[in-house]
Amino acid sequence: MTLLASYIFRTNRRLTASLASQKLVQQALAESQQLYQSILHASPDGVAVSDLQGNILHASPADVAMMGGVTEDQFIGRNISEFLDPAEAQRAIANVSAMLEGVYNGAADYRLIRLDGSLLDVEINAEIVRDAKGQPSGLIFVVRDIRERKKNEERILHMAQHDQLTGLPNRALFSDRLQRSIVNAVRDKTGLALMFIDLDKFKPVNDTYGHAVGDILLQDVARRMLQCLRDSDTVARIGGDEFVVLLRDAHAIPDTLAVAEKIRSALDHPFLIQGHTLQISCSIGIAQFPEHGQDDITLSKNADLAMYRSKERGRNQVCLYEPAQDM
Ligand code: GH3
Ligand code: MG
Repeated sequence: MTLLASYIFRTNRRLTASLASQKLVQQALAESQQLYQSILHASPDGVAVSDLQGNILHASPADVAMMGGVTEDQFIGRNISEFLDPAEAQRAIANVSAMLEGVYNGAADYRLIRLDGSLLDVEINAEIVRDAKGQPSGLIFVVRDIRERKKNEERILHMAQHDQLTGLPNRALFSDRLQRSIVNAVRDKTGLALMFIDLDKFKPVNDTYGHAVGDILLQDVARRMLQCLRDSDTVARIGGDEFVVLLRDAHAIPDTLAVAEKIRSALDHPFLIQGHTLQISCSIGIAQFPEHGQDDITLSKNADLAMYRSKERGRNQVCLYEPAQDM
């Protein structure tokens, strides 16, 4: 009896202890579920959980909203790749495969296709979900809307590549375009033309009417130059009153000379600024590719030399580079 009582007592105690620990486990599980739900709901970033094949199991409210949905049900069971452009889906699959092999590539930018077909720039951070044995069982994606970041990046890039006063490309962007255009011209066996343009006696405008009027004149000059060119050509401001023009697909020197003459004549008409009638002109130097240089540095040097020649000859004229100028 004692033995039996003792056995029952020990069994009861073990059962009670086991029931108590089961309750604790259930409680811990419920708390963990609660925490998980709170994190999903609180995160301003979208959070999506999928199986290893990318089929969506959960989507947080922020994720649902980012994808243009209203309820989570609209996404459950669908594959993540449905919301990516096919080329981007390939990249995403490659990133997940690398992650499963232990190579973490970090966050990557993607362009999501929302339910209504519109596109959304996002940054996605992915992580592997593991089961109790540590085996990969799913994927978790943290999705961040980066439209604002992209806009800022574009604004900063635009500022770095453009002249604030006229909005024209600056020297850095122009130099990049010139180099690319030369590469294309060599490939396509075509020509191009480079013009250096400096305003004549611009300083006296500043001295007579003030810097602010000088600034408006520079803006008006830029507008008139643009009106003389095709969309594929580039005009840039590379210094105070110095501009450069790149004509793409310019095969024949007479055609280049005609465009230069059009610019010269467009600037040779009075400008009406703040009640003042201003007369200005410009001196233009031209270097043609491939005749006057095979690379951007030589072409620039030669167009500059030609421009100085037109200043020397009395300004308000167009000069083509002449090899004899080098001597
Ligand atoms: P030249 O015919 O020999 O070219 O004579 P110039 O008076 O035009 O002389 P130059 O080209 O050497 O001088 C350019 C002047 O442009 C000098 C400077 O006072 C003025 N300048 C430079 N940047 C700006 C600007 O952003 N705004 C204004 N208003 N003036 C500028
Ligand atoms: Mg000048």
